[in-house]
Amino acid sequence: MRIKEISHIDNSQVFYEIHWLITRRCSFSCSYCPPHRHNPKSFQATNYSLLQALLKLESIVPNENIRLNLTGGEPTIHPNFQEFIANAIKLEKVKSIRIVTNLSSNQKKYSNLANEANNSDTKFYLVASFHWESASPQRFINNLKVLLDSKVEVQVKIMLDEKGSEKILSVLSSLKELNAKNKNIAVAVQRIRNTKNLEIDLIDFETKYFDQVNNWGDLREFILETDNNEVVKKKISNIDLIIKNKLNSFYNWTCFTGANTLFIDNDGRVYSALCKPDLGSIGNIFDTTLFQIPQSVLCPHKLCECGSTVRIPKIK
Ligand code: SF4
Repeated sequence: MRIKEISHIDNSQVFYEIHWLITRRCSFSCSYCPPHRHNPKSFQATNYSLLQALLKLESIVPNENIRLNLTGGEPTIHPNFQEFIANAIKLEKVKSIRIVTNLSSNQKKYSNLANEANNSDTKFYLVASFHWESASPQRFINNLKVLLDSKVEVQVKIMLDEKGSEKILSVLSSLKELNAKNKNIAVAVQRIRNTKNLEIDLIDFETKYFDQVNNWGDLREFILETDNNEVVKKKISNIDLIIKNKLNSFYNWTCFTGANTLFIDNDGRVYSALCKPDLGSIGNIFDTTLFQIPQSVLCPHKLCECGSTVRIPKIK
């Protein structure tokens, strides 16, 4: 089986995805975290710079349906995290915020987020990653409950690793109960390179995960060619399986990066996708110079490494 094309699903909600790595600092220090994602001394922009950057974004991105994806490091430990969220949801074009967190900050931070979501028309999505090496299952579940009691929609991602089986299975048993009781949660797993991935049974979670991915606008249509040269179309929610089956190589394909996404690094450098496919950055969000966004690139990378980049529409 070979992939020929990845595209949006007709009539589905399509967000313009801005991935913003607002800090490289993190409360954890996981052994599998790549060094370029984690730097305890990394630059963190001031509240004023972040506000100016948000206003600049509105001018350079023509799309009216932006989803801001805040990542790190751990975005909730940025000293201006709360003000940044409050300012971002005031922007007309920002229709949704998605935060990727390890759920290790203090409970007040997640309560504030829950309140912000309850009082806003902006959709709040949160991806809660369980990193067994550093996470406390109890703290993770307690913070999760605060969010599940609000309008925030949560996707729990469990980092698979055989060495963490005791903690992972403990958190999984609480997640089964929460999954059965709450509408606004789905559970998935994430494979970690260079570790022996624990195999767990996800049957209790699969339907809800598919529905959530669909509702979040993350489902994609794949055009596939079988070994008999037959062409088939398939809707795929679980990009983890594409990566697991080593189908994530799109070298030299036309990839519609800037037409669908932007990536902003913590120092303000902007690229047309999270994988930094451009020759150098295309501009800096913290200065006053406006710039054009290239709509597509010829993929320069051997592998497309994560779910959010595989999902970008592309054609061979
Ligand atoms: S690695 Fe980047 S440029 Fe290449 S296919 Fe993935 S998102 Fe597109």
